[in-house]
Amino acid sequence: MPNKSTCTNRNCPPVGEPPPDHEQVPWAPATSQDRFERAPHVLAWSCDCQPVTYEKVTAGGLFWVRRTDQLDPADPSSRVIVESPSTGLEEEVSALWKRLIEGTAR
Ligand SMILES: [Zn+2]
Repeated sequence: MPNKSTCTNRNCPPVGEPPPDHEQVPWAPATSQDRFERAPHVLAWSCDCQPVTYEKVTAGGLFWVRRTDQLDPADPSSRVIVESPSTGLEEEVSALWKRLIEGTAR
């Protein structure tokens, strides 16, 4: 895995402390795997060189961002998955996605 300082992936969100006035996303425990008959379709994903990764997903005409925190890189069972509120508007979640990648939302 590349580390952040050498990573050139354009979908690599910034690390470290977020700006003090950053947008706080109301993350909620992931339930989408249960809510939809088929697993949500992943439209975009962030760089995996970091312990926190984001995925832009869609299912049933809704869009949202799924966030995975890998608490211990060596232990897949230490993953915590949360989701942003869903919306029927793809442009809304695309804008949120952009803010997460830019680091103005967490
Ligand atoms: Zn990266």
